[in-house]
Amino acid sequence: MQQERIVTAGLVLRDTVTKESDKILTVLTADLGRISVIAKGARSRRSKYTAACQLLCYSDMTLSPKGDWYYLAEANTIELFDGIRRDIVKLALGAYFADLTEAVCTPVPEPELLRLLLNALYALSALDKPAALVKPAFTWRLMELGGFAPLIDGCAVCGKAPPERPVLDVVHGLVHCAACQTDGFNLPLTDGALRALRHILYGDAKKLYAFSLDDAGLRLLDQAAEAFSAAQLERSFRTLDYYKGIASYE
Ligand SMILES: [Zn+2]
Repeated sequence: MQQERIVTAGLVLRDTVTKESDKILTVLTADLGRISVIAKGARSRRSKYTAACQLLCYSDMTLSPKGDWYYLAEANTIELFDGIRRDIVKLALGAYFADLTEAVCTPVPEPELLRLLLNALYALSALDKPAALVKPAFTWRLMELGGFAPLIDGCAVCGKAPPERPVLDVVHGLVHCAACQTDGFNLPLTDGALRALRHILYGDAKKLYAFSLDDAGLRLLDQAAEAFSAAQLERSFRTLDYYKGIASYE
């Protein structure tokens, strides 16, 4: 009987080294969602798919399913994101994006999520868009796709839209006026940052990075994105700490 084979495109979110020369990969695919792939001999110099088994490599993969696992039979690289691989700070940010995506995604196929991550990596790698823009936009949109979108249409306390001197409550996932208090963990936004957040959460995915916001507003959105994802996912990310550590030396 011929063994079943599946061909799908997948992005490596995590690569774990195992015994001898094998790797276990966490792969985000369009067709199968998030899967675990065993790549036999991936670290061997003779391996024909070493490149495809690296973190953040996007490839066409031929897989043999076995229980909950998939064995990698063949891989053809589609995109290596060289611009990220050449730059240690971008690579660290890409690793955080992959980590965050893994925390948000499920084993159910989520092609939009894969597209979002591929576009973010492309924006950093080929378009050389600044991390100060890509990081908050990617994080907020990812949280929205993962079902964690905050309610930002108006003040959650008095209903005023837009809220007056807006504040984001990252615990309850809502905005309110500075004068309307809630008992959550509150971070201030500017009017411009709130408008940008609306564009990021509800706008056309293809125009995710097409908004203008001053540096101070971007920083507020970024801090809010970090605090919001940590509160909603109830965890911190070592890859984020690492990225911030090396980015501060730039
Ligand atoms: Zn209010």
